[in-house]
Amino acid sequence: KDKLLDVKDLAVSFDTYSGEVQSVRGVNFHVNKGETLAIVGESGCGKSVTSQTIMRLIPMPPGRIKRGTITFEGKDLTKLSDKQMESVRGKDISMIFQDPMTSLNPTMKIGKQIMEGLMKHQNMDKKQAKEKAIEMLKLVGLPTPEKRVEQYPHEFSGGMRQRAMIAIALACNPKLLIADEPTTALDVTIQAQIIDLMRELQEKLHMSIIIITHDLGVVADISDRVAVMYAGVIIETGTVNEVFYNPKHPYTWGLLKSVPRLDINKNEKLIPINGTPPDLIAPPKGCPFAARCDYAMGVCLEQHPEETQITDTHRVNCWLQHELAPNVESPVAKGG
Ligand code: SF4
Ligand code: MG
Repeated sequence: KDKLLDVKDLAVSFDTYSGEVQSVRGVNFHVNKGETLAIVGESGCGKSVTSQTIMRLIPMPPGRIKRGTITFEGKDLTKLSDKQMESVRGKDISMIFQDPMTSLNPTMKIGKQIMEGLMKHQNMDKKQAKEKAIEMLKLVGLPTPEKRVEQYPHEFSGGMRQRAMIAIALACNPKLLIADEPTTALDVTIQAQIIDLMRELQEKLHMSIIIITHDLGVVADISDRVAVMYAGVIIETGTVNEVFYNPKHPYTWGLLKSVPRLDINKNEKLIPINGTPPDLIAPPKGCPFAARCDYAMGVCLEQHPEETQITDTHRVNCWLQHELAPNVESPVAKGG
């Protein structure tokens, strides 16, 4: 399979008055052409910081990339200047957010907001860009697109705004779409429509997607592979089937506990796990999950767990995988 994006040992910190917050502490993942990778985890685990770093949207300072590479089509994005990055953003890689109002301009007509990217990145004149804007609104399923291009964001409902944001993001046919909690603010019916739309557009436009979510129903619906993040690191990654039906990490077990049968239990949210994640100003030297883990052993407090390769695609960082560790059965129901 062809890799579109390859992130290696990425570490991102924020310098604050209380000290260096190590939000992302060495993550490795890749996205193949045409596939969807879900990044899941509680808020503050580093999933949004990771995606915003790819797009160079974190404020620097106080943020900074400490180490690592982000290779996109052979170019290391961490090495690009702000100006070079501007020609990647919105053209090769686009992003959509939970709240469309944070990325839509309330004082500009929707059509104009779609046209901007087209005129900037694709050298279209006004007339061509407007035609394409109407075509995009039609593509994302907005009725009467000729009228809609002339309207402002406040004239759209929540679901329609989400569709408009997707139209803006996809106008230049990006190779990668990063969707950060794209359906969290929407009601269940609209959520399902937006996920269907993303899937449909992915097929049509042959793009890859990174979806950041805490909604396991969304993960099951749209993703090929999953990366589970905790305290700035990826603790387990694999195909959707591997992570849902053969999870190996106690944190993943906790996430899945409320969702015994994903095929019939859509729209389940992550249930909170007792305790709180560690302070990322002084992360623990051992396993970051140790303080909340029912299975913690002595070694867990002393050493960061090594990566164990379960299959070609399935990897986990947990001392329970060590040959000397006790045999612990997953408490999460298996099968589908
Ligand atoms: Fe629990 Fe130890 Fe595994 Fe961490 S390494 S998840 S503390 S068993
Ligand atoms: Mg977030």
